[in-house]
Amino acid sequence: MSFQSLGLSDALLKAISKKGYESPSPIQEKAIPSILEGRDVLASAQTGTGKTAGFTLPLLHYLSENPKAKFRPIRALILTPTRELAAQVYQSVQDYGEFLNIRSAVIFGGVNQKPQVAKLRKGVDVLIATPGRLLDLQNQNLLSIKRVEVFILDEADRMLDMGFLRDMERIMALMPEKRQNLMFSATFSKDIRKLANGILNHPVKVEATPENSTVDAISQKVYRVAKSKKTGLIIKLISEGSWQQALVFTRTKHGANRLTKKLISAKISAAAIHGNKSQGARTKALTGFKAGKVRVLVATDIAARGLDIPLLPHVVNFELPNISEDYVHRIGRTGRAGADGQAISLVSADETSYLKNIEKLIGQSIEVEVVEGFEPDPNASTEPLKQGQNRSRSNSRSKNSKSKTQRGRRRNKSQRYRGNSGNKS
Ligand code: ADP
Ligand code: MG
Repeated sequence: MSFQSLGLSDALLKAISKKGYESPSPIQEKAIPSILEGRDVLASAQTGTGKTAGFTLPLLHYLSENPKAKFRPIRALILTPTRELAAQVYQSVQDYGEFLNIRSAVIFGGVNQKPQVAKLRKGVDVLIATPGRLLDLQNQNLLSIKRVEVFILDEADRMLDMGFLRDMERIMALMPEKRQNLMFSATFSKDIRKLANGILNHPVKVEATPENSTVDAISQKVYRVAKSKKTGLIIKLISEGSWQQALVFTRTKHGANRLTKKLISAKISAAAIHGNKSQGARTKALTGFKAGKVRVLVATDIAARGLDIPLLPHVVNFELPNISEDYVHRIGRTGRAGADGQAISLVSADETSYLKNIEKLIGQSIEVEVVEGFEPDPNASTEPLKQGQNRSRSNSRSKNSKSKTQRGRRRNKSQRYRGNSGNKS
């Protein structure tokens, strides 16, 4: 199968070959023909499988083959959950549209709205937006989406996870009812199907990878380790394994900052990327990482979602995600494009149930290893911690007085997700 045989225009084919793509990826091959037919499409494929071009190419083809005279109303709206993703999709629209007369703009929060508004005033065909800033500008009457012909929801699963359902509904009410709707997602969950039912009309469903399977090329490993020894272990793995670059996931923003600082103190260049960072800081971290100047990028799930970080050899779960699907997304960052990848998880006692759920989801058990000097704490509780509560020292039990330990235990029983028996500091 070639891009030519999909019926894309010469200008698009030229841009595609400039990007160096030789043939469409499976999801592109499946989605593009239906989109070109004008059908609503629900497409699901793992991160890194080329979904962006899967909707951008047919969109640009349609817009350029059916031009609208003079003034430019927004004809296509692409919604993405995060700023980075919006910027990335915008870049793709620019790249693929290089030889077309199509104007596009990207809007997201966290930066001054003025330049965005100025660009919108000049007229754009394709708008890429995060929900918040879109509604914000709409409320100020600075943009209109009532002429939208094609609506695209990218990373639909993450949109739901981030609580954008209401915003999406508000946004949809502002567009004409008759339009083409495309939904792209890395997973095909029940919630996604439900959302699709509300948005799509008689959609064509395309899927390029089986649900929640992990790529064969990725080797997965679990290190059982005491919570207090995770930082030491990751430093050892990175240094002794001479890892060139790694993407490390933490569960919280705070945890990301803390780990980044400790890595830097250990002379490992690192940067954190999460929602509390300014747009400038996030872009700088990502650019530094892509350029190879930053060795370790420490990220939260939300910040990392959908980011295109090609050919990453190592992905580390410094903490397991409490949502099992996020594990699949995280490790999807490695082993892309046929390159071998390694996904490592540092698992402490309180994460035992998360690990079980993940293994159930991916349908396999993950190889476990213990490193000498970084053994798990046999006395640590296996109760999950409340999100964000991960500061306790699991080895402090021995230092604690008996009565304190007992108090901890009682609390642990009555407040399941709050107590942390024996390791409260
Ligand atoms: P997804 O949205 O599925 O996570 P992206 O659209 O971000 O994936 O694409 C991942 C990477 O694959 C990008 O670097 C993109 O340039 C590249 N890519 C997309 N389509 C092709 C193709 N047909 N051939 C080669 N590389 C491609
Ligand atoms: Mg994507």
